[in-house]
Amino acid sequence: MCGIIGIENNDNAAVLVLAGLITLQHRGEESAGITVSDKKKMKTFKTMGLVTEFFNKGMEISKFIGTAAIGHVRYTTSAKSSLLNAQPFQINCIHGNIAVAHNGNITNFLEIKHKLLKKGAIFNHTSDTEILLHIIAMSKGVLSNVIKKSISDLEGAFSLVILKDKILIGARDENGFRPLVLGKINNSYIFSSESAAIEVIGGKYIRDVNPGEIIVIENGQIKQSFLYKKSKKQNTCIFEQVYFSRSDSVMFGKSVKEARVKMGEYLGYQMKNIKADIIIPVPETGYFAAVGLSRTLAIPLEIGFVRNYYVGRSFIKPSQKLRYLAAKLKFRPIKEVVYGKKIILVDDSIVRGTTSKILINILRENGVKEIHFALSCPPIISSCYYGIDTPSKEYLIAAVNSWNEIIKYLNIDSLTFLNLNNLIKACSFSNEKNDFFCTSCFTEKYPTKIPKSTHIIS
Ligand code: SF4
Repeated sequence: MCGIIGIENNDNAAVLVLAGLITLQHRGEESAGITVSDKKKMKTFKTMGLVTEFFNKGMEISKFIGTAAIGHVRYTTSAKSSLLNAQPFQINCIHGNIAVAHNGNITNFLEIKHKLLKKGAIFNHTSDTEILLHIIAMSKGVLSNVIKKSISDLEGAFSLVILKDKILIGARDENGFRPLVLGKINNSYIFSSESAAIEVIGGKYIRDVNPGEIIVIENGQIKQSFLYKKSKKQNTCIFEQVYFSRSDSVMFGKSVKEARVKMGEYLGYQMKNIKADIIIPVPETGYFAAVGLSRTLAIPLEIGFVRNYYVGRSFIKPSQKLRYLAAKLKFRPIKEVVYGKKIILVDDSIVRGTTSKILINILRENGVKEIHFALSCPPIISSCYYGIDTPSKEYLIAAVNSWNEIIKYLNIDSLTFLNLNNLIKACSFSNEKNDFFCTSCFTEKYPTKIPKSTHIIS
């Protein structure tokens, strides 16, 4: 899971990209990068950690001068988390200076890398994005054709922003796994992973980049937009709506907040027989589904946890005792709200089950009488190969345990997952059945060939 953004034809390009990256920070916290072009020169700045590290390290915004810029925030576990693998990647090749930022996971990366190695290519990074740079550098012709040729053989998930001098290009794989939207601010076009980043900087969301589409922008004008590959079936990631995207974004044409409220409403129809005093969301991932659930069941919604935002990822050490302490620091229940109550606890999903178990223990310690656990998506039974960092199957609680085993392990009174039909209905544009989404982590049916080796995420 990563976030990308690009803007052209704007004297404040770098500032706007930095602001956009802060808005996309939830998509990746491990490293951040920005490439700025002043039409002649191009410079890339990178840092480990959050976007604000640029300021902490004294990298003043005034040093980022240029009229076009692209940016990237990164989250990964498989490819090494290092400054070297931080994006954008900038190269100097026969086409001049080019920078690329990528969100997704190229599933035939190893196959292509092997072919390139045989031709004498030298690799500096361990990220899948580097193969794209090699193909671009080896291809001749006008840039839009070079990009078309370079991405035609890639498989899997990739949303890209590419910068050359003052030319900004956005592209999305033919399945449209990862999002990419187009927006505008005054005379400048913007590409972004999410519409919220466009709106935060004062721009307006125009539309999604279509699956299989390349859009070339220069001097505030769309110079070209074409399908490099015709999409057989769109497979946009339904998990973007469930969890990853910001609630204030429009994802694949639908408000994420609205989809999440609907998930809760449909969950309510599945939970008509559950009797409870209050509904409590896990902050903040369960908020909007809890609103919908409360509406359907007519059970009051209460805030039962205070979340401490200062418990960083670094605190989560690989020991059960410290993980427990970290979760206790992060989520503190409000005893007056939960004591002696029958509650419905709402979260978006359950992956390993570790955090859920800790939260439920904390609620039990605070005198909760009954806990009915409601999840706004189906059980996750399979890994993602399209850019989301889910663990392998043996670590997925729902893949290796029965319903009753999960109930026993979590020490809960009942367990309800939103079923797949209801999830699709909640995320669809109309009430008709929609096969627009990738749902592979719930079904184990993948729309593309999947790699044999471990996945590498950009
Ligand atoms: S497998 Fe799951 S997380 Fe991955 S793209 Fe498909 S729906 Fe999204």
